[in-house]
Amino acid sequence: MKQLFHVYECENCVITFAVEQGLEDQTVVCCPVCLMQEEIRDVVSGEMDMKMTRAGGTSQVG
Ligand SMILES: [Zn+2]
Repeated sequence: MKQLFHVYECENCVITFAVEQGLEDQTVVCCPVCLMQEEIRDVVSGEMDMKMTRAGGTSQVG
């Protein structure tokens, strides 16, 4: 099970954050800190293997 995601960088806050986003989902992304869209830069996109998320406890399928 792989989930498409994009990694964005806010040049205003100098942070990076990942957003689960498919190729067909082109919703506008804004910074979770300053809530601005203008400073957002798409750093990388790809697939994230869900097996990597082993937080323990509850497991989500779907
Ligand atoms: Zn920001």
